Amino acid sequence: MSKNEIPYKIYLNENEMPAYWYNLRADMKNKPAPLLNPGTHQPMTAEELSGVFCEDLVKQELDNDTREYPIPREILDFYKMYRPSPLVRAYCLEKKLGTPAKIYYKFEGNNTSGSHKLNSAIAQAYYAKKQGLKGVTTETGAGQWGTALSMACAYFELDCKVYMVKVSYEQKPFRREVMRVYGASVTPSPSMTTQVGQKILAEHPGTTGSLGCAISEAVEVAVSNPGYRYVLGSVLNQVLLHQSVIGMETKIAMDKYGIKPDIIIGCAGGGSNLGGLIAPFMGEKLRGEADYRIIAVEPASCPSLTRGIYAYDFCDTGMVCPLSKMYTLGSDFIPAPNHAGGLRYHGMSPILSQLYDDGLMEAISVPQTSVFEAAETFARTEGILPAPESSHAIRAAIDEALKCKETGEEKTILFGLTGTGYFDLVAYEKYHDGKMDDYIPTDEELTAFRARLPKI
Ligand SMILES: *Cc1c(COP(=O)(O)O)cnc(C)c1O
Repeated sequence: MSKNEIPYKIYLNENEMPAYWYNLRADMKNKPAPLLNPGTHQPMTAEELSGVFCEDLVKQELDNDTREYPIPREILDFYKMYRPSPLVRAYCLEKKLGTPAKIYYKFEGNNTSGSHKLNSAIAQAYYAKKQGLKGVTTETGAGQWGTALSMACAYFELDCKVYMVKVSYEQKPFRREVMRVYGASVTPSPSMTTQVGQKILAEHPGTTGSLGCAISEAVEVAVSNPGYRYVLGSVLNQVLLHQSVIGMETKIAMDKYGIKPDIIIGCAGGGSNLGGLIAPFMGEKLRGEADYRIIAVEPASCPSLTRGIYAYDFCDTGMVCPLSKMYTLGSDFIPAPNHAGGLRYHGMSPILSQLYDDGLMEAISVPQTSVFEAAETFARTEGILPAPESSHAIRAAIDEALKCKETGEEKTILFGLTGTGYFDLVAYEKYHDGKMDDYIPTDEELTAFRARLPKI
């Protein structure tokens, strides 16, 4: 197919959009390990999980077998407001790099929340509404997930209580205000509104919080208020299921033009965008129908896949959540300040952890300043101001394209551009002013956190 036949942007018609989410677990020979009760160390039952999560979402969480989940009409209607997201051929970036590689990116930043997180937020809000709940609680770090969930809750007229990591609450007022525009209440975490928050504040006065603390608070509020459940924006199997809409759309669009990616790249925080993007491709790989090189990109400051270990660990600092088997740095690992807030989680999706352990995908880590350098190259050629998280994938895609320049190979590279960086300009400022550091944890530090993993 000649270059001219492939448009800059490949959109799907409404009738070509995926009608179902694809559950990758159905095709995995080695299933992800079950969540364990933190007290008994026995697999969590649906009944136990239903105290914390919405019923339909619990079913999805535990379902390793159903391959296809039809997307409910109400969710499809919402998706149509901002989907399909464009699949873009990065002609200008290719030209700038002088590479024979063909680069494509799937852009998820085209909605007000500015990231892919809305794909799962709307699904989770829908199931909460269907169950007749009053509202949901959650945590947010830099604020992308909280923003997405606020939008989704406003649409279904649900109450939304967000616990926002205190340092972000204070330093990033813009996302906080967007959440309030959509009607959410936002509390800086740790707070005095929960027992776990009071305990953390007593032990660590003056702490600026972490994602793990905020999770503990949000869970406590959900289980102690009738009509509320807790929702989470990444890591969980159900979130990867909803995010498969990214990969399904990409696959349909690529098939339409006869394009087959050789390399698929995504940034990995909790693993939801990458898990969603690769889903149908990994499905083919698992069924032996096709082969793809799949690369997870993480920050060198928070390297769960590349330097963590595969073990059961707590998902939160307060240790109230179920135990999850995943690549982890330890639940009390607090990464050095890094401007990709969405990638600062100590663990990784159990699905991606298992696939990585089985050698079905690769992982690399990249230092922060090299990520911002790639972000600027991208912004100056393709026009979009990328989120720092997304720019990890850009870095890896550029590096692969430059390798092709050396070897002359015309590889097709696909990467996930998860969001925009308008609310991350303080990070860009630090980069421009030469005030950004590339701190990488030492082996000794990582070993110390590992020693505190639960003994299962
Ligand atoms: C949250 C976020 C991520 C990382 O989360 P995953 O669950 O790993 O996808 C990546 N990019 C953006 C823009 C985000 O908001």
